[in-house]
Amino acid sequence: MADVGVQPKHFLSNKVEHFTESVIREMTRQATLHGAVNLAQGFPDFPAPAEIKRAAQDAIAADVNQYAITWGEKNLRNAIARQMQAWQGIPVDPETQITVCCGSTEAMISTLLAVCNLGDEVVIFEPFYENYGPDAILSGAKPVFVKLRPPSAPDGEWTFDERELRAALHRHTKAIILNTPNNPTGKVFTRAELEMIRDLCVEFNVIAITDEIYEHILYDGTQHVSIASLDGMEDRTVTINGLSKTYSVTGWRVGWTVASPLVTSAIRKVHDFLTVGAPAPLQEAGAAALGLPASYYQNLANGYRARRDRLMPALAEAGFRCFRPRGAYYIMTDISSFEFAGDIAFSRHLVKDIRVAAVPGSSFYNNPRDGARQVRFAFCKRDETLDEAALRLMKLRPGS
Ligand code: GLN
Repeated sequence: MADVGVQPKHFLSNKVEHFTESVIREMTRQATLHGAVNLAQGFPDFPAPAEIKRAAQDAIAADVNQYAITWGEKNLRNAIARQMQAWQGIPVDPETQITVCCGSTEAMISTLLAVCNLGDEVVIFEPFYENYGPDAILSGAKPVFVKLRPPSAPDGEWTFDERELRAALHRHTKAIILNTPNNPTGKVFTRAELEMIRDLCVEFNVIAITDEIYEHILYDGTQHVSIASLDGMEDRTVTINGLSKTYSVTGWRVGWTVASPLVTSAIRKVHDFLTVGAPAPLQEAGAAALGLPASYYQNLANGYRARRDRLMPALAEAGFRCFRPRGAYYIMTDISSFEFAGDIAFSRHLVKDIRVAAVPGSSFYNNPRDGARQVRFAFCKRDETLDEAALRLMKLRPGS
């Protein structure tokens, strides 16, 4: 056999060549290394509800330890369908429209793999949660970015330009990825904005893939609207959600898609070949979680509002300009008042010297320069954690 020698690049997929490691996950590793308070990766440092932990323990004790049905354990699918009806008025058939996945992360990539062909385009609002770009590329599609623009007034909203969105759409566009309430901006898309997006989806025959994982984390009287509930979107929406953020169990890896039977049958095949199924006992516990009373969700939102209002003044005092989030549990900030050569150098200083970990803004943009003056803080943490971070951040003040 001819000796062609070792050509390391030849061993790698072109798709992966340009991926960087997840900056969010890397910041968590840096936080551990430097003993920093971790306000980088969005996971709670407080316990999950006792009822649902007990439900998981009970399920394991009752030997729910083998594969669930590949597209999801029946009790959980029934509970998801019941809640989609109750919360968003969307009728869902649990037998043909739901696929339970390993977290909403798998739900997103399974969906994109199920709907995209080589050469398709996927429109993504930016700043965006960093997985969406690589997800589109892994599915053979080209990501196309449309800007969310930060508010000019301290209390204003992030907005987008309808003309810019329209200009991004054409006959190769397969899908628009939405994320409301939004990570990292905290924007909650209004009904009027979603209707505008709906009209464009219909005009250009495009699917909406909507990540609604922060559905219950809302502030200041904002309301969550699922685009699937709008007329004309029933059969052209994939709604993604999961247990992670609503029930503070990000490590359980239970998420799901809700879509038309046609799209669901494609997602189910991809999901089956990718992962076979999500953890069976945790799906059983998920059915219990979705049965928690309405007061649970009110307390969840109230608790996060109090945390937001605890961290925001501390950030402002330390010199950050904060964009007030209306939902989700992140504060995007502008770091222009600090004298640093960009978000990466500044975040390095934060984690190593100040010992508070945050996420550099550039990791949420296609062009890193667009995020060079921004840093994101997660506030899904105990009061003590937020107070310790606030104390450390005071060292950033001039003269400290
Ligand atoms: N959504 C969380 C964040 O943005 C983390 C998700 C993850 O790391 N899988 O920080």
